[in-house]
Amino acid sequence: MKAITFHGVGDVRATDVADPRLVDATDVLLRITTSAVCGSDLHQYHGRGGGALVQTGALMGHEFMGVVEEAGAAVRSVQVGDRVVVPFNVSCGQCDACRQRLTSQCSTTGRAVFGGRFGHLWGGGQAERIRVPFADHLCEKVPADLSDDDALFLGDILSTGYLCAENGGIRPGDSVAVFGAGPVGLLALQSAQLFGPARVFAVDRVDYRLALAEEFGAEPVSLDAGDPAERLRSLTGGRGPDVVLECVGHETPFTQAIQAVRAGGVVSSVGVYVEPSMAFPAREAFFKDLTLKMGICNARAFMTVLMPLVRRGKLRPARIVTHTLALKDAPRGYAIFDAKQDRAIKVMLKP
Ligand code: NAD
Ligand code: ZN
Repeated sequence: MKAITFHGVGDVRATDVADPRLVDATDVLLRITTSAVCGSDLHQYHGRGGGALVQTGALMGHEFMGVVEEAGAAVRSVQVGDRVVVPFNVSCGQCDACRQRLTSQCSTTGRAVFGGRFGHLWGGGQAERIRVPFADHLCEKVPADLSDDDALFLGDILSTGYLCAENGGIRPGDSVAVFGAGPVGLLALQSAQLFGPARVFAVDRVDYRLALAEEFGAEPVSLDAGDPAERLRSLTGGRGPDVVLECVGHETPFTQAIQAVRAGGVVSSVGVYVEPSMAFPAREAFFKDLTLKMGICNARAFMTVLMPLVRRGKLRPARIVTHTLALKDAPRGYAIFDAKQDRAIKVMLKP
């Protein structure tokens, strides 16, 4: 089959690899109908994390959905022909962590994710087919009235954006600032609106992404206009936003988020920090009495809950899709998403 494989910094290729096969009786094989390029794939694409994250030849991609083509003998909850979406973390559903809904900490799979570093162990989803283990636990059936573009992000970036907003503890009337108007930030913004904030600000430097944030009800704050923390304070009567959602994953926006939030406010961060450590404005955080929440998303726990919100149009994830490319054109998809060319926000791939 064709799959997207990693070959070095800025180098992903469509290559021929062996077809995946059922291994355990609890596996299914999916024929992938849609996958996507995630901001987390870009960390690997940039070679961040000193090679600790990804191996040459690894099968890329952790956002995917498809139709069950074969099911192991022990699989009960899905059947051949079912259309399903799968979370990005590989988890068993049975260990202590999974039973506490911390599926990202699954001890059976060793906190695995599909694709990337584990692309040899657990194939990536930017491919024609994939083996999904623990299928009864991982597969969420998708109703026929939900398009792939609306369903796919339940497995990763919609659940992540929602988690970010929920961790912010937003109350009606709050002011909220979202750092990053990429796919995750835009869906965090849509999710934040569910909690009834009075004002939402979106911080980025990419004008067309800020324009979509405006469509989702945000007031744009361009990084080109100067220090975003200062700007956010002046927009909120000198106080700073009650809640800041960090959706970038670098030291600078993390620092700016802490500088921007009001005293006693909440910073909720879902950006992936690939480097083992970074500078942290500890004194400011301490004297501000702020609350900090961060972490990887336990997407499995959110998919079922968020699906009705998507079906009823209260969340509109498909709105961020800007490109749908053939799987073989994924290298171009990575390049335009990375360089923010051709007004790219979310790139979908079709085998
Ligand atoms: P993206 O790279 O498209 O988006 C990042 C955006 O941040 C870009 O639009 C960029 O212009 C903007 N930006 C850069 N510096 C900024 C700054 N100082 N202030 C404000 N904005 C700034 O990627 P994405 O797909 O939206 O992903 C965002 C982050 O979320 C990545 O770090 C990704 O790894 C992470 N992520 C985390 C999880 C999780 O489980 N926690 C899941 C999915 C993605
Ligand atoms: Zn992702």
